[in-house]
Amino acid sequence: MTKLRVEFDKKICVGNGVCAAIAPQYFELLGKKAKLLNSKQLSQSNKNSCFIEGHCDENAAKQLIEAARGCPVNAIRVIDKEQNKDIVSNKVDGSNIKEIFAEYDDLKEFVIDNAGYFLIRLDRKNQNIEVAFCNEKNKIILKVTGKKPVDIYHAILSKEKLNIRMEHAAYLGRELQKAYIALKNNLEYIQDDELDINKKTG
Ligand code: SF4
Repeated sequence: MTKLRVEFDKKICVGNGVCAAIAPQYFELLGKKAKLLNSKQLSQSNKNSCFIEGHCDENAAKQLIEAARGCPVNAIRVIDKEQNKDIVSNKVDGSNIKEIFAEYDDLKEFVIDNAGYFLIRLDRKNQNIEVAFCNEKNKIILKVTGKKPVDIYHAILSKEKLNIRMEHAAYLGRELQKAYIALKNNLEYIQDDELDINKKTG
């Protein structure tokens, strides 16, 4: 048994429900916010923050820790009460970071992906984005059609497990987002060109 304290800040919760999915006996999603079940208010002045504290078994502790780690906005803090230290902190630690200003020169730094290349176009009639992957010049081995970038890149990378370079996967995400914005706003889409928000299609 471990003694844990779990603190939850409702104000910053964005309600994606990860905590409730991982630790349903502790968190519940009510509308657009999570609720820490059976909790007490942290202080009189702060109505948004609450906590629970007590002994829990290994499985419950694991769920609470995973829920806190899975929270994208640091709304959950888990403290080991026996050691009196954070297991999952809700503070960002910037004391030991490498900081860089990013610059990229396409002409000098571009590395070709020998796995192949993508062709992306819009099907405006059906409001779809179509992506083809060629493993050699003009030879398509995969075609994926979808409505949203996330559907398409998951199909290509997670489901079809296309083995491409990391920066090529990032390129795919960037192009899909551009294609999606063009589709939704009736803008011209030309793969690899910057979007021109003044260039509407017919
Ligand atoms: S994981 Fe975090 S942001 Fe998502 S519902 Fe839970 S507390 Fe809110």
